[in-house]
Amino acid sequence: MARTVGVDLGGTNICTVVLDDDDEVVGHAKLKTPTTGDRAGVVEVIGASVYDALGAADLHLEDTVAVGVGSPGVVLDGTVGGASNVPGFLERFSLAQLVTEHLGLPVRVTNDVTAAAVGEHRLGAGRGTRDLLCVFVGTGVGGGLILCGEAYEGGRGGAGEIGHTVVQQGGAVCPCGRRGCVEAYAGRRAMVLAAERAVAAGTPTILFDLVAEKGRSRPTSGIFLAALERGDTLIADLLDQAVDALGAGIASAVNLLDVDAVVLGGGLADKLGERFRSRVDAATRPHLFLHPPRVELIAAELGERAGAIGAAIMAREVA
Ligand SMILES: [Zn+2]
Repeated sequence: MARTVGVDLGGTNICTVVLDDDDEVVGHAKLKTPTTGDRAGVVEVIGASVYDALGAADLHLEDTVAVGVGSPGVVLDGTVGGASNVPGFLERFSLAQLVTEHLGLPVRVTNDVTAAAVGEHRLGAGRGTRDLLCVFVGTGVGGGLILCGEAYEGGRGGAGEIGHTVVQQGGAVCPCGRRGCVEAYAGRRAMVLAAERAVAAGTPTILFDLVAEKGRSRPTSGIFLAALERGDTLIADLLDQAVDALGAGIASAVNLLDVDAVVLGGGLADKLGERFRSRVDAATRPHLFLHPPRVELIAAELGERAGAIGAAIMAREVA
């Protein structure tokens, strides 16, 4: 029985699933990611989430053969580095080794967005495709690639970064420090910064009033949707720019790779729903090279569990 556990390590939550060998999720758990401390503390919570998910399925550690972890940052051969949103994950270290030592099981570490792409490819919206691009629009804009049926991570773990493909030379500053990236227009963090600059320049918006009204600490995807629904013109303009940037970036990737399908997911895209998906789909059309266009933009199906499910699938490789 090749039952595996998959862990999606995010900046806010650690989502974990237990996956049976017939691809059924039989248990899950969600714990808060530590915001302070060191990497050992993070590994402790990863371990606790594995036990919680197994417990939810009435199972024990010995009932599973391997653990997969989807981690932010650049992942290479079980090591992780460059993730600024998880304590201790900036400097490169072997996450696979630490989790193996903690749980006594083989561990497969992959990039969190690649794991989510594997989840959508095998059990979600990308089922039946050979070549698939997954684009996740949330705080940032992440991308994962499946080529010839396999996750493609690149020689140094940096493949799939559609958020940092350039759609406007010399354009808006991106959170990565470069200019004109897709994420500079379509990532929620970048849009919040743009809204703050607009407010400072005297443009009205209800975005920050809604943050206070709903008792949140920052503008969430739901607050963007609420501002849009209440007719906030600044947010409507920012989302128009996001749609255009995503359209140009996705079309450029399709022109490069000729994938079978593109899956659109992530917190902001999921929240904004079908209208956003169809607008981004329409925004790719003018840029597509092959005619008639074959690619359709399809909505992700697995939601926040995609990464954990993909990590559990990838764990089978080390079982
Ligand atoms: Zn960038």
